[in-house]
Amino acid sequence: MRTVSLVLDIQTQSLDSLYTYVVPADMVGVEVGCAVLVEFSARRAIGYVMEVCERPDSEIDPTSVSRLKPLLSVLSSPYFDEDGAALVQFIAHEYVAPLSACVHLLTPVGRAPKVVKRGDMWELQKPARRRKKKGEAEAPVPLDEDIAEAAEAREGFALTEGQAAALTCVDACIDRCAGETCVVDGVTGSGKTEVYLRAIRHALELGRGAIVLVPEIALTPQTVSRFEGRFGDTVAVMHSRMTAGERFDQWEAVRLGKKRVVVGARSALFCPMATLGLIIIDEEHESTYKQESAPRYHARDVAAWMAQRTGAALVLGSATPSIETLCRCKVDDMWHRVVLPTRANGKPMPEVRIIDMAKEFGRGSRSMFAKELQENLFAAVDAGRKVVLMLNQRGFANFLLCRDCGYVPECTTCSVSLTYHEVGRKLVCHHCGKTSQAPVTCPVCGSPYLKKFGAGTQRVEMELRRILDDHASATGRPLPRVVRMDSDTTATRDAHEKLLAEFGQPGAAVLLGTQMIAKGLDFDDVVLVGVINADTQLRLPDFRSAERTFDLVEQVAGRAGRGHFEGRVLVQTYMHDAMAILAAAHYDRKRFLADELPKRKMLGYPPYARLANILVWGTEEGAVRAEAEVLAKRVQEQIDDIVGDGWQSLGAAPCAIDKLRGQHRWHILIKAPAGADISKLAEPVIRKRRANKKVNVAVDVDPYSL
Ligand code: ADP
Ligand code: ZN
Ligand code: ZN
Repeated sequence: MRTVSLVLDIQTQSLDSLYTYVVPADMVGVEVGCAVLVEFSARRAIGYVMEVCERPDSEIDPTSVSRLKPLLSVLSSPYFDEDGAALVQFIAHEYVAPLSACVHLLTPVGRAPKVVKRGDMWELQKPARRRKKKGEAEAPVPLDEDIAEAAEAREGFALTEGQAAALTCVDACIDRCAGETCVVDGVTGSGKTEVYLRAIRHALELGRGAIVLVPEIALTPQTVSRFEGRFGDTVAVMHSRMTAGERFDQWEAVRLGKKRVVVGARSALFCPMATLGLIIIDEEHESTYKQESAPRYHARDVAAWMAQRTGAALVLGSATPSIETLCRCKVDDMWHRVVLPTRANGKPMPEVRIIDMAKEFGRGSRSMFAKELQENLFAAVDAGRKVVLMLNQRGFANFLLCRDCGYVPECTTCSVSLTYHEVGRKLVCHHCGKTSQAPVTCPVCGSPYLKKFGAGTQRVEMELRRILDDHASATGRPLPRVVRMDSDTTATRDAHEKLLAEFGQPGAAVLLGTQMIAKGLDFDDVVLVGVINADTQLRLPDFRSAERTFDLVEQVAGRAGRGHFEGRVLVQTYMHDAMAILAAAHYDRKRFLADELPKRKMLGYPPYARLANILVWGTEEGAVRAEAEVLAKRVQEQIDDIVGDGWQSLGAAPCAIDKLRGQHRWHILIKAPAGADISKLAEPVIRKRRANKKVNVAVDVDPYSL
């Protein structure tokens, strides 16, 4: 008799399990990865086959068999194989997520797809797709080796010494098929992309495909054309702005072997690439690789698991690799690191200067642009060059800031900034929940200028236009173009492209944007980069604040001086002696880590510990809070009964963003020793929870924002 284990595509309150069904003797085509139709709770439901078991009838207990229901119909050919099924199980366990949410990472049809009847056969309704024009011939699929040969012919220049060493390391990882990781640690403009392109060529020579992940925002036509220019038609592109039909077409082309190089955002990792040889994650430190809804996976960590399982090589590229990645290279023989210390064009990195904004304020300046920044800005635009201004705007949390001395109230036990709540002038710690009254004057210097901090891009744009206007009318020079790029101006498809094209036109221009402009921007005539507020990030109640600030300054500095002209970077801050900013200004990662790592160790944060955040949300504050408190107690019991030493539970406390779209949000933070199976502790707490329609609960393992 044959049975199958299924993931059922049903809405679940929290975690689901596998279900067993019987395969009728006359049913054909039941394989791992197929969608099937079953009856569940007296309704039709769609299931995905995770395992097929064949057992002799003699071994089967007849009473249990009589309780099993039969499959009703096979709805599709396989969407994934045994490796895919194992991947679904891995993600569900590792990230304490419903199997039904995980399985959809691997299918080209959305959640709960429609079932349609064709004749007397049931099948899944496919998304609407582009119609083939009559007479459009099917081109023959070229061999991997032929694509590789054509790519080699297009390789224009000789590699730098660093690039050659990096490529040797990556190629060796591909050859050994042992699932190794190579970290390409190269400054901005060092030519990492060229290393990726040649490594992909090598994988293709061996008849193996490649997946390249880039941050969503970097997935521009310029990026894509670099890959298409080398590998032509075999490149598939996958991103979140595609329609379901476009996505399906790309997915199908990869499955059929017509596309052997996939360039895409996070979820492209799950495309059905046969004989995978190489996974590349560019800008691996980017937080966009962490999914913020279920399953809350991290593409880098899932890619590392896939590499180990399939023997593919994993390449992690960045000018600022994450601390986790750097530390893994030190302790894991299978993780290698190669360094590209100089730009491919031989130009030095731009000079970075720090501007102390508290001093500016002391001198009576009330502008958000310091005098030095204004002077450099005018000089640049008067010379017909370009300027990039960045307003750091991550997070929504408000905090208090002393405009005289830069003091920001912090929680004494958690060492994170306190969040300011206008209602009742309260300061709240979002780790431990401690609440206090906001002071009226600065407790350090006595200044009355203790202000809520945070300015929007629109306000900065107004001020920018005002000072440019004043300068133009004082000197009689023409006004430069001003382009604003933030989540408002880039909401529509292709808006990002159009704004960059506008900025890129010859002549003077100023690009004002949020941190989205820190990446990938490549214009020859940018001579000045200004960071309006380098320290906003540092105030956020998050242990990665310093690391992100360091990364951001380094990345944004990489936008200046890429062509003929020398570049300069001016960084405005109220915390001119913060190590993240000081070290970044000197391109000195060693110094930053020497300061940061002991803090992480002392406070019990990654890479010295693992975190899991239990999130609780709903519209009724009382119900949310009550549930969070019950769960906090359960977590503590689990820790006391099972694991003990080195484990800790914090909260329940309100989240840093304690109300979002009408939902009240609380959380419980679990700290475990590095490398611990933290899911094993969190899972039973969630699974045993009594169903409650008013309150939602989810676990965020290795969270990126607390
Ligand atoms: P990264 O990805 O490290 O920021 P890129 O791959 O974008 O760097 O390379 C930066 C620039 O240098 C690009 O214009 C690229 O064409 C050029 N480049 C890369 N490698 C070389 C090389 N070996 N010789 C000359 N120019 C190179
Ligand atoms: Zn003060
Ligand atoms: Zn606290």
